[in-house]
Amino acid sequence: MTDATLRSREDERAFHEACFEFAATQAQMATCTRARCGAVIVLAGGEGIIGQGFNAPPLGDEANRKCDGVYDLTSKPKSDKTCCIHAEWNAIIDGLSSNPENLIGSTLYFMRVDENGKFTQAGEPYCTVCSRLALQAGISFFALWNDGPQIIPTDEYNDTSYAYHRKTSDSADEAK
Ligand SMILES: [Zn+2]
Ligand SMILES: [Zn+2]
Repeated sequence: MTDATLRSREDERAFHEACFEFAATQAQMATCTRARCGAVIVLAGGEGIIGQGFNAPPLGDEANRKCDGVYDLTSKPKSDKTCCIHAEWNAIIDGLSSNPENLIGSTLYFMRVDENGKFTQAGEPYCTVCSRLALQAGISFFALWNDGPQIIPTDEYNDTSYAYHRKTSDSADEAK
C-alpha cells in the first residue's frame, strides 16, 4: 500500500468520524425519554449535509408523546415501543423536503449517545422501519458506529435488519 492510499484511508475515516460527530450533536437535541439518537444524511460524494434529525414526538409536541407509557420491552422490535419519530425518519423527511433527488446515492449516519453525550455502539441493525424507508428514499449507505465507522449498503442493512428479527423470533420459539 502506498502512502497516498494510507493517507486517503485516514482522510476517509476522519470524514466519517466528523459525520458521526454531527449526528451526535443532533442526538443531544433528542427529546425522547427512552433514547437520544441523531441522524445526518450526506450527499453522494460527501459534498454536504442534506438532512438531519433527532428523535422526538410527532411535531415536537408533548401532547403526542407516548414513550412515557409502560410497554413490554422483552418483545421485539423494541424500537417501535418508543413514541417518537426516529432520528432517521426526521432526517429523511428533512432531506425530502428540500430536494428528493439529493437522497439518491446518499449516506445516512446514525448515532445514539449516552447520558454524557458520548458515542455508543450501534450493535446489529434491527429497525426494519428505518431500513425500508431509507431504501425507498434512495439512500445508498447506512453508517453505524461499532468500534468505528461501519458503512453498510442500504439493501444489505435492510436484509440484516429482517434477519435479526427472524433470529430473535427463532430463539423466542426455542424458549417456549
Ligand atoms: Zn420517545
Ligand atoms: Zn428506526
